[in-house]
Amino acid sequence: MQENIIIAQPHTPSWQQQLSQAIRDPAALCQRLGLGDTWLPGARNGHQLFEICVPEPYLSRMTPGDPNDPLLRQVLPLNAEAQTPAGYVADPLAEADHQPAKGLIHKYAGRVLLIASPACAINCRYCFRRHFPYSDNSPSRAQWQETLDYLRADTTIHEVILSGGDPLAASDRQLTWLVEQLDNIPHLKRLRIHTRLPVVIPDRVDDTVLGWLGSTRLQKVVVLHVNHANEIDQAVVDACARLKQIGATLLNQSVLLRNVNDRVTTLAALSERLFEAGILPYYLHVLDPVQGAAHFDVPDEEARELVAELRNHLPGFLMPRLVREIPGEGSKTPL
Ligand code: SF4
Repeated sequence: MQENIIIAQPHTPSWQQQLSQAIRDPAALCQRLGLGDTWLPGARNGHQLFEICVPEPYLSRMTPGDPNDPLLRQVLPLNAEAQTPAGYVADPLAEADHQPAKGLIHKYAGRVLLIASPACAINCRYCFRRHFPYSDNSPSRAQWQETLDYLRADTTIHEVILSGGDPLAASDRQLTWLVEQLDNIPHLKRLRIHTRLPVVIPDRVDDTVLGWLGSTRLQKVVVLHVNHANEIDQAVVDACARLKQIGATLLNQSVLLRNVNDRVTTLAALSERLFEAGILPYYLHVLDPVQGAAHFDVPDEEARELVAELRNHLPGFLMPRLVREIPGEGSKTPL
C-alpha cells in the first residue's frame, strides 16, 4: 500500500508578522549583528530619542560584525544623536505652516501630501520627520472627510501623494477606502506613494496591494527610498516587478549620508542597481537639518563635487537630481 507523505512547507510570516517581529531593542540589534558591547551604550541613548525599528528582511542584508555596514549605519542609534548643533531643529521643513487639515500638507501648487499612516516599517536615524507630531496628525474617518472636501473644492490639485510614516503601513481596508475616494475626484490625475516598505519588507507588495492599487484609474507613481545598492536584493527586485506589472512608474529618492553613500563609486553602484530593479533615480537630497542627524551631514560643496564626478560614471538617465528642500520655496531647490 502506498503511503501518503506530507511534506511540511516552510511557513512564510505575513508582512504584518514580519513587522511585529522587527527588532526594537538596542541589545537585540547589537547581539544579532555580533557588534559586541562597544556600540550598545550609544544605541541605548539614541533609542531613547527615537526608537529602533529594524525588520528581519532588511537586517538580513547587513554583514554581521561590521559596524560600518551602510545599512546598519542607517538604523543604528549613536550618542551623536544627542548633540544639538545650531540650525538643527525638530521641524526642518516647517511643515506645520502648511497644514489646512489634519494629516494634510499643501506646500506646492497642484499637489498635496496626505499622512496616510503614522507608522513606519523601519526607523531611519536621519528621518526629517523623526520628531513629527504624528499623534496630532492621525485623522479619524470624519477628519478624512474634511481632507477629501478640501481636495474636491480645489480643482487646481492634480496629484495626491500618500506619505507618512509609511503609507503602506496602513491597513489595506483603509487604503482601499481612501484610494476609492480619491478615484472619485474628477480633477485628480495622479496618485503618488512614497514608501520604503517594498524595500524593507518586500512581502508587503502582495495581491491585496496590487488589487487596490491596480484598479484605480489614477496614474500610479511609487517613489521608493533606497540609499545604498545593498538594500536591493532579489526579493526587492521581485516586489518592484509586481508593481510594474500593474502599471506603476517606479522612482527613487535617496538622501546623501555621511558614511553610508558619500562616495562616487557607491552612488554609481546605487543608480546601476536601481535600474536593474526597474527603478529610475529621481532625487538625491542633501540632509534636512533635523535634530539628532547632524552626523550624517555632507556639506553642499562636497555634495556638488560628488555629483559632478558622478556624471563621469553614469548615463544621464541614471543621474539623480541633487536638491535641497528649503521651507517656503515653491519646489525643491537644485544645488
Ligand atoms: S518616514 Fe521614511 S525616512 Fe522616515 S523613518 Fe519612515 S521610512 Fe525612514
